[in-house]
Amino acid sequence: MSGNVLLDDATTVYNCHSYAWYRYSTANPYWIMDISQFTLDSACTQISASSAQANDIIVYLNAAGNPVHSGVVYSVSSSGELTICSKWGQEGAYRHAVGRVPGNYCTTPGSGTIRYVLFRYHDYMNKYIGNHYHSGTSHYFQFADVCDVCGKRTNTTWQTLVCSGPPCNVAYSVPKPEEID
Ligand SMILES: [Zn+2]
Ligand SMILES: [Zn+2]
Repeated sequence: MSGNVLLDDATTVYNCHSYAWYRYSTANPYWIMDISQFTLDSACTQISASSAQANDIIVYLNAAGNPVHSGVVYSVSSSGELTICSKWGQEGAYRHAVGRVPGNYCTTPGSGTIRYVLFRYHDYMNKYIGNHYHSGTSHYFQFADVCDVCGKRTNTTWQTLVCSGPPCNVAYSVPKPEEID
């Protein structure tokens, strides 16, 4: 990719670590300084750069090996170049090439050298995802494991409830769509 793409305007409401680790959304409400609660979670695994996929999490390190910035892998080119979505401190959120970051995310501020590690972290909750239909004497509701971090859905299933409809009267038994992330 060429230039950086602005995804969200500057805000002090949330920061890079919260955007990458807690909620991959510009509606993120938190500013998080310490990512160890996530990296130490059993659902989090450090991976090699060569196995990076979309929705993996990148952590930029300083010369001492401490985290200075987090982002989410948006895409990986056929040659392995990473495109990242990340929130730049109090500045905006951007989609950017892995190396096109502010100088304070370099190993030594302003050096132009970056060093990073990658993690795969998904925090899945089984949720109703809003699709349903009636057939015969049953009503079918679609569920999936939905990642609270990145929104990725997996293991889609249909749950069946006995229904005398139409008119159907079973909507009370599942979360309302507005409760679904
Ligand atoms: Zn995820
Ligand atoms: Zn029904």
